[in-house]
Amino acid sequence: SPESSIVLETRELTKAFGGLVAVNSVSIVVREGEPHAVIGPNGAGKSTFVNLLTGHLPASGGQVLFRGRDITSLPAHRISRLGIGRSYQKTNIFPTFTVFENCRLAAQSRLSSSMRFFRPARALADVNARAERAMELAGLAARSGRVAGTMSYGEQRQLEIAMVLATGPDVLVLDEPLAGMGREESERMVTLLKGLAAQYTLVLVEHDMDAVFSLAHTLTVMVNGTLLESGPVDVVRASQAVQDAYLGD
Ligand code: ADP
Ligand code: MG
Repeated sequence: SPESSIVLETRELTKAFGGLVAVNSVSIVVREGEPHAVIGPNGAGKSTFVNLLTGHLPASGGQVLFRGRDITSLPAHRISRLGIGRSYQKTNIFPTFTVFENCRLAAQSRLSSSMRFFRPARALADVNARAERAMELAGLAARSGRVAGTMSYGEQRQLEIAMVLATGPDVLVLDEPLAGMGREESERMVTLLKGLAAQYTLVLVEHDMDAVFSLAHTLTVMVNGTLLESGPVDVVRASQAVQDAYLGD
């Protein structure tokens, strides 16, 4: 709804790699609790856009605002601490560690060094509690002791989500969480994401149209680095430009 508050906003956000403009003056608005999907063909600039949102790449121009604050030039770890958590398109887990250990490592990254130094027992309890909660939210409570690398691909992707949750975000930025999944795994992940959408503001890059339409409230379509349309899913889906350029049929 128009009155809900803006969590994340980009203004003419731009990234050039030499002569290639991967993200070209893209302005979007992400509102609290309204899942926002970014779609577009391969090479459209979606991952680059996500990397700009989360400080993993420096912008060439434009701005990123988080709750009205300009975060454009902040490094990734600072942005993570502000509450924007992200997953990667490629899996990013420690395969020889257990699920719990992976979640604890992620939870620790959000702790301040003074907390670790002055209140070590409290810090440890905090990290453990956060890791437990993240495993539960990601549907992995029963897998706590499993060595991550021995789990199925789908479970490893769930673990990635758990690790993002363990950092205590309020915005979740997920780059193709369904990539490479079979149908059953995808369905499980979509169910998981629907549950998370009730508690977190999701920003989702995704190829799977059924998933996008069932999950997202707002849709941004990118083509060749530029924004083609951005708005409520039904409006964007029905627009002629999107039909012509991307959805085809
Ligand atoms: P998408 O995620 O939509 O598939 P990307 O953001 O990965 O698209 O890529 C957008 C364009 O930017 C592509 O042409 C890609 O080759 C290029 N690109 C992405 N990352 C880099 C980089 N680090 N250096 C140079 N070019 C890049
Ligand atoms: Mg990508």
